Amino acid sequence: MKAEEIIHGEATLIVPTYVRPPMVFARGEGCYLFDTDGKSYLDMAAGIAVMALGHSDPAWAAAVAAQAAELTHLSNLYHSRPHVELAARLVAHSFADRVFFCNSGTEANEAAIKFARKWARSEGEEGRTGILAFEGSFHGRTVGALSATAKERYREPFGPLMPGVVFAPYNDLAAAAEALTPEVCAVLVEPIQGEGGVRTAEVGFLQGLRRLCDERNALLIMDEVQCGLGRTGTLWAHEAYGVTPDMMSVAKPLAGGLPIGATLVTERVARVMEPGDHGSTFAAGPLVCRAALVVVERVDRPEFLAAVQAAGAHLRARLEGLRSERLVEVRGAGLLLGVEFREAVKPLIAAAAEEGVLLINAGENVLRLCPPLIVTQAQVDRAVDVIGECLERLGW
Ligand code: PLP
Repeated sequence: MKAEEIIHGEATLIVPTYVRPPMVFARGEGCYLFDTDGKSYLDMAAGIAVMALGHSDPAWAAAVAAQAAELTHLSNLYHSRPHVELAARLVAHSFADRVFFCNSGTEANEAAIKFARKWARSEGEEGRTGILAFEGSFHGRTVGALSATAKERYREPFGPLMPGVVFAPYNDLAAAAEALTPEVCAVLVEPIQGEGGVRTAEVGFLQGLRRLCDERNALLIMDEVQCGLGRTGTLWAHEAYGVTPDMMSVAKPLAGGLPIGATLVTERVARVMEPGDHGSTFAAGPLVCRAALVVVERVDRPEFLAAVQAAGAHLRARLEGLRSERLVEVRGAGLLLGVEFREAVKPLIAAAAEEGVLLINAGENVLRLCPPLIVTQAQVDRAVDVIGECLERLGW
């Protein structure tokens, strides 16, 4: 199939929920993608903060090929080793005592919501089913996770959604204290709001949420689907806050590009769940878990995380050096950075793609940079040089 045929096929055969730029990718290597004409693109989006080790990492590809030749899928009816090895690794390097595996970030949040409700019930509080979430949040597209996602454009066509979700302004602890009523069993928060425009939680906000949850016997759930697993320069984003949650959802980078989600929980939560309470056919298969082990073993090393911090600091410094009257601010942490402009960044993204640099947005006006965690300083320099040239070309 030629590139035009593929683009035409998508337009006519696929349910039209996405808008895509006019290139077709055929191959990836490290921080580069190659289209069907062989043109190379420096990938500063990493499949939306997924490809932590870059594309086609040789050790990852070898492990996946070996596991595929050995055992791919079993269902959760049977035991297998990679599942337990992955859980052991995650538990050893987090606050959690146990893990529930699923297939996406949305599902990881969906599980967290169900676990919180069952936990509240086990505390003898039947009517306590509410969730406190925040303005600007994104937790997924299934009905439960969507109910905790603030964006009206995503919610409005699909109502009525799950009742009991209340929203407070992000980083407003007083408003959260007011919204955390006796009907609320859990607080669901992103340490950095990714889709909501790369907005970073203030230290006092997350610490205050922890305190409020302790005082009112509610669970604190952190959604680290986008910001977790090394992206901010620590293994988990919440480490920088000196706060631990009761549950944490992880997904995007975990299996190096294969679909996976994980809800990490403390024993206090895990003990309320029984066989049959929740499940998934595909979750935690040997193939995806073996792939995830490669990622976690690589990322969870001091020298890897130090390199993310260094690359993130360099990227931030370079972005802060951009001169544009339309640039409002640079924000975020590590290699999850946002550059807010006074207007929609779509033309900037299109101009950079022409120059061979892939960028994405986070909301209308925010350029989001979330490259593979292996990005080099030279690649960062190239990306920011191209952004600077495009700003000039657009007259921004
Ligand atoms: N939570 C956060 C913070 C996210 O950024 C996303 C996706 O962007 C999700 C949940 C949903 O994850 P998925 O698309 O894997 O279902």
